[in-house]
Amino acid sequence: MRTRLVFLALGVLLSTQSVFAAGGGWIGSGGEIYKNGRNPWFVENTETVRYCVVVDEKSVSASADHIEILIETAIANWKREFKKYDEARLFTEFRVATQEFIQVPCQRNPELKFQFGWSTLDTEQAAYLVSQGAESILGIAVRTDYDDVQLRGKGFIYIASDLGEHRYDGGPDTVERAWQYDALLYYVIAHEFGHVLGVPHVGADHFVDTSRFLMAEQFPEYVLRKAAVDLLKQTPGFDLNRPNEFKDFFVLPREREQCRLGAYSAKWFGIPKEAKCVRLSRVDAKKYLVSARGPSLDETLVGEIEVTGTRTTNDSLLTLYLDPGQVVFPPNGPWPTLFGPGFTYDTIVGVYKPLQGDSKAISVAFDEKLVVIGEDSGQMNFILR
Ligand SMILES: [Zn+2]
Repeated sequence: MRTRLVFLALGVLLSTQSVFAAGGGWIGSGGEIYKNGRNPWFVENTETVRYCVVVDEKSVSASADHIEILIETAIANWKREFKKYDEARLFTEFRVATQEFIQVPCQRNPELKFQFGWSTLDTEQAAYLVSQGAESILGIAVRTDYDDVQLRGKGFIYIASDLGEHRYDGGPDTVERAWQYDALLYYVIAHEFGHVLGVPHVGADHFVDTSRFLMAEQFPEYVLRKAAVDLLKQTPGFDLNRPNEFKDFFVLPREREQCRLGAYSAKWFGIPKEAKCVRLSRVDAKKYLVSARGPSLDETLVGEIEVTGTRTTNDSLLTLYLDPGQVVFPPNGPWPTLFGPGFTYDTIVGVYKPLQGDSKAISVAFDEKLVVIGEDSGQMNFILR
């Protein structure tokens, strides 16, 4: 059950220079899958990134002060996710989001400009967005320059107005004055900032149990639909009025609970009838505990898994194209692309030892869904999937 990676190009390369010219050309959001078009705007040789924020408060129903906090939160959130990846010592050939991001006034011409509302755009930006279908653009990250020697980009993130003539028009199903809700604005900021860091479109646009939906191509539009907002409101712990920070974007946790168990799974694990959920918790590399709980049952240990092997699955999501003239990395032979952080999960194999009954072989994939394969009458069957 590998994560299906969907690389969809959203932006269209608009360039008056030679096609895909390194260093030139405006590249929107997902970018094209050519040369440096998908590179993170910054890699580890860049220590500081200056950014500025400009808000048209007439056409955006969130204050500038408020937006600045959401941006800071989104930057910290992504930095934390990349750091977790680095700290787990997972495969990567370059590092991202290691920079310090500092807010400066826009007059200082920083590397990254956050622009909220149509009237913050200059003529060239507005023309570009019109060429991309302005009214249907909710948010976009546009890289306007790229230094192919230092591997450093420059550009802007535009988030559409939610009021007035140029407001985002997502149709009658779209929530009104969307930016009055911190949670929605936060999601869209975090999505676009993810592109600046080189994260492409990936995953499906519906809600899943993990944070991975954040970078789905249609996610920003999806999350502003009335139906999606209703769904979010019903989600336990979700608050529409604050940024709901995401976690486990790259590295999926090895402690999981699955509820709505079928009779077969429950019987296989040997869990009591009144239990609704099974939980796997990691003790160490060699041992996991299996417990059960339900509305009328406190968490109860039902067995343990003795681990005999662990395999880590890692699909690189970020890539870094090295132009021949770059000076940041040693020459990489005939292969000009380095591979970066990606979706990671562990699969363990071992023996399940229920408190009651015989030991049996088990394999658990801690993927987006918990996938358990177990021994039953000498055969390996799906127990959970
Ligand atoms: Zn996007």
